Amino acid sequence: MKEDYYDILGIGKNATAAEVKKAYRKKAIEYHPDKNPGDAKAEEMFKKAAEAYEVLSDPNKKARYDQYGHAAFEGGGGFGGGSMNMDDIFSQFGDIFGGAFGGGGFSGFSGFGGGGGQRRVKGSNLRIRVKLTLEEIANGVEKKIKVRRKVQAEGVTYQTCGTCGGRGQVTKITNTILGRMQTAATCSACGGSGQIIDKKPSDADANGLKVSEETVSINIPAGVEDGMQLKVPNKGNDAPGNGVPGDLLVAIETEEHETLKREGDNLHYDLYISISEAVLGTSKEIDAVGGKVRIKLEAGIQSGKILRLRGKGITSLNGYGSGDLLVHVNVWTPKELNKEQKDFFERMQNNENFEPKPEKSDKSFFEKVKDMFS
Ligand SMILES: [Zn+2]
Repeated sequence: MKEDYYDILGIGKNATAAEVKKAYRKKAIEYHPDKNPGDAKAEEMFKKAAEAYEVLSDPNKKARYDQYGHAAFEGGGGFGGGSMNMDDIFSQFGDIFGGAFGGGGFSGFSGFGGGGGQRRVKGSNLRIRVKLTLEEIANGVEKKIKVRRKVQAEGVTYQTCGTCGGRGQVTKITNTILGRMQTAATCSACGGSGQIIDKKPSDADANGLKVSEETVSINIPAGVEDGMQLKVPNKGNDAPGNGVPGDLLVAIETEEHETLKREGDNLHYDLYISISEAVLGTSKEIDAVGGKVRIKLEAGIQSGKILRLRGKGITSLNGYGSGDLLVHVNVWTPKELNKEQKDFFERMQNNENFEPKPEKSDKSFFEKVKDMFS
């Protein structure tokens, strides 16, 4: 069971945005790796706090978390706040500490993750769409997708940035009514990487990058829904210099199935049978994910009956079991009859066996719907 994000930051559910920020700042200082070298527990707490902050500081994510808890982001593949690395965490710090770390505005931190005060520049993210069939969604799938991403061109050489001396940041001292203020800003000459291009091949762009086609393998967990976004870390564009690549963001699209309709983790199938089949009983093949399934219908089955095939639905995204396949039985009433058939039904009109006598087990449609959702 994952720890509650509010508990991690030590705040209540009604905390304001400012309180969330303040609580995270406190935890980040307490557990910062520079202050706790080699302490795995502190690093764990540091990451947990960052993840909690990432969710609770974003009104959208916070709303989803408040409604669904951790299930809103779980399911592997790197949804939302599920998988932050140190680079993500440090890139968050500009927001928290006013962009003034490293340069001296915030004392106590000499460097972040061994970067010597230098920010690691992140490459841009790439976005793609992936269309999935119901079968692929039901059990999860590995997709191999061709992606055109910018990678570092061979033969590019770098030299230390002269503007910032390789620090990636420039400090500025301004006189204000409160006294001298020192602020740090990202070096505009090198974009914060501390290096500028010395030599590059003619086919590389100004950042020393060139487009390359690459096949990326994407593990899509079972149970994803239309409109969800998966993150494949480091498969976006490379960054210039010694930066880290951006991420590949995969938007999920779903294809409609011909006969199966999805509703959450459950699937619905409309089965039509003839009056004779309803009266005499029959066995029918129906569509299910991963192939056909044969089901038996008892003699005297009523129209509107719903048969539940447990576990034959979609594997749940949060990993807790699977939905069901619900088969809706519809008895087809013939619209045309020949003389012999018409005679038969006329003879049966006042027959006792043909008179409706619903039992408790033949629940009305509304009761069945109520059952399904309870
Ligand atoms: Zn520079």
